[in-house]
This record gives sequence, structure tokens and C-alpha cells, in this order.
Amino acid sequence: MIYIDNCATTKLSEEVFDAMLPYMTTMYGNASQIYSFGKKNKKAIESAREIIAKCINADLDEIFFTSCGTESNNWVIKNTKGNIISSKIEHHAILNSLKNIEKDGRKYYLLDVDNYGIVNIDEANKHVDNLGLVSIMMINNEIGTIEPIEKCASFAHKNNAYFHTDAVQAVGHIPIDVKKMNIDFLSASAHKFNGPKGIGFLYCNKNTSLESFIDGGMQEYGKRAGTENVAYIIGMAKALEIAIKNLEKRKKYLERLEKLFLEKLKNTNIDFILNGHKNHNPGVISVSFKDMQGETILHRLDLKNICVATGSACDSKNTNLSHVIEAIKVPKEYAYGTIRFSFGVENKEEEIDIVINELKKIIVK
Ligand code: PLP
Repeated sequence: MIYIDNCATTKLSEEVFDAMLPYMTTMYGNASQIYSFGKKNKKAIESAREIIAKCINADLDEIFFTSCGTESNNWVIKNTKGNIISSKIEHHAILNSLKNIEKDGRKYYLLDVDNYGIVNIDEANKHVDNLGLVSIMMINNEIGTIEPIEKCASFAHKNNAYFHTDAVQAVGHIPIDVKKMNIDFLSASAHKFNGPKGIGFLYCNKNTSLESFIDGGMQEYGKRAGTENVAYIIGMAKALEIAIKNLEKRKKYLERLEKLFLEKLKNTNIDFILNGHKNHNPGVISVSFKDMQGETILHRLDLKNICVATGSACDSKNTNLSHVIEAIKVPKEYAYGTIRFSFGVENKEEEIDIVINELKKIIVK
């Protein structure tokens, strides 16, 4: 199999699995129990919290474990106050949460983006009445564009609102310093950086006030109750620690694969356009092929055991044009033929030739 869909999910690293294993077998004590078999797990959770906090320059008590990026996003969107400004290219975990706030009499506005996917924050000036939150993703999951986060945060603060970023595609991929970037809330998910699925975290700056999301016991400072998923928390911390240690090396490697892929694609007679901004998540290539259906390409590649995506994975049953491709105004004759190739560290250079050869067979002039 050739897997080029690392924006959808990544392979669990063996080192991470080894770190998790004892907590799924012998060390099964409940972290809330005060005997040592329980307390050992509590200690492990707190060391994991410390590792994660350090990776984004947060403090220990600013990290809350959640079940995934979607939950982190829901928590912030549904539990802050006032109106919200967000963007047209957010993930559905944001867009569908936003629909929910209307029943509380809150409003939201979605900002346009330019043809490269960069959010037009200046347009936000028109919607500052009763503004409570600005939520802009750090990296778009379909085209890889990196958003001007500091600029968006400063706009929010100038208007006495909090700033949240859905950093699910960014954590473990690009350097993040929540203090320097003036971020109030940040959502992350372990399975995007070679950690396990079903675990994420929310960073909440100490100076914010966010109501509890799940009521029950006193886990997560009483804000997100439920017996902790110790093994997965340990796995997430290990995966992030490894990702941060290898950030530069990984970036260089993925940039090389990306360059090679595009050079080889340009050397064919295939008619395509490249989507996204030059400042983007390394290894993420969104390409729109002329007069093609993305789904046809995806299924033909699948027959050859090659995994790629059209739009985002959460959208794979939806044959409509992706909201992101629509927002960046890809010309219609190209838009429906959009494929996202997202390389990971496990990919090998040799795989590129195989994929390009298959593309040549599928997209015949
Ligand atoms: N936000 C973005 C930008 C994503 O790409 C994804 C997943 O693809 C999510 C949120 C949802 O994360 P999770 O799968 O952890 O719920």
C-alpha cells in the first residue's frame, strides 16, 4: 500500500505504542484512586500534561485532555459567550458547532478567504458588535495553507474578544508558541501526529474562563469529567514529544518529497492547477485536474492500493464541491477534479514514480 493521506490520519508510531502498552495491560488502576496503584497513573497523566504544555509553551494547568479535536472545538465554540467570527474554510467540527450557537441567540460570521486560502481578517471589522470569540484555524486541512494567526489574535484582543485556533493540522507539524502567538484557546488531536485516535487536548489560557464541558467527577480540574484514558494520554504526549524533536528534519524531508512530486507531475502532459499558499504545511499538496472527477481518480488509485483524498476525509461521502475549494474559487473545470496528496515521514521517494505513472494512466489527454 502507498499511503498519501496523512492529513486524514497518521500511522501510530511503534515507540508510541510501546509507551502506551503497559497502561492498557498491567497498569489499569483508576487515576482518581488514592492508593499507589491509582496514584502512579495520576502521576503518569501529569507528566504527560507537562510534556504537552512544554511543546506549545503553555503552563501545566492550561492543558485539558479531550477525546479528539472535534470535542476541543465544540467545547470552545459552545461555551464561550457573545458572537463569533470564524472563516468559510474551517473544518466541519467548527462550522457545525457554530450552527448550534444560534439557538442561544448568539450570531456568527464567516470570513472570506483569498484564492490562496488566506483569511480576510480586515472584513471582520464589520462584525464587532457583542463579539466574544474569533476562531480561525491554524492550518487548513484541505489545502494546507497556514493562516496569519498573530494578526487574527490581535484583532480579537483589540475588540475584547478571545482568540481560538483549531490547530489540529498544525500541532506536531509547525512550531507553536501559544504565549508569543497570543492564543487563548487551541485545539489539537493526537492522530494527526502519529499518536492514537480518540484523544486530543484543549489549551485554555489561564486568564480565560470556560465553563465545564462534561459534568461529573473532578477530573481535568472539574471541567471535563470522566475517567481518564491514561494509555492514550501517555501515547499523545510521547507522539508530540517525538514530533517536536524531529520538526525541522521532518519539514525538510516532506519539502523534498513535495518538490519531487510536483516536478514529476509537471513533466507529464497532465493539465492541473496547484491549490493553497506557498506558506503551507510541508508535504500537503492539493491539486485540481482539468475536466476530471476527484472521486474517479481516488477510486482508480485505490484499485492500485494508493490512498489519497478528495476534499477532507469527513466529507468523503459528499459528492458536492468541497466548501474550501469553493471558497478559494478554483475554476469550475478544475474544481471537481481536486485531489489532496498529504505525505508523511513514512513515505519513500520511490512511491512518487508509482503514483505519477498511475495518474498518467487515469488522466489521459
Ligand atoms: N479540525 C481539523 C482542521 C481537522 O483536520 C480535523 C480532522 O480531520 C478535525 C478538526 C477533527 O479532529 P478529530 O478527528 O480529532 O476529531
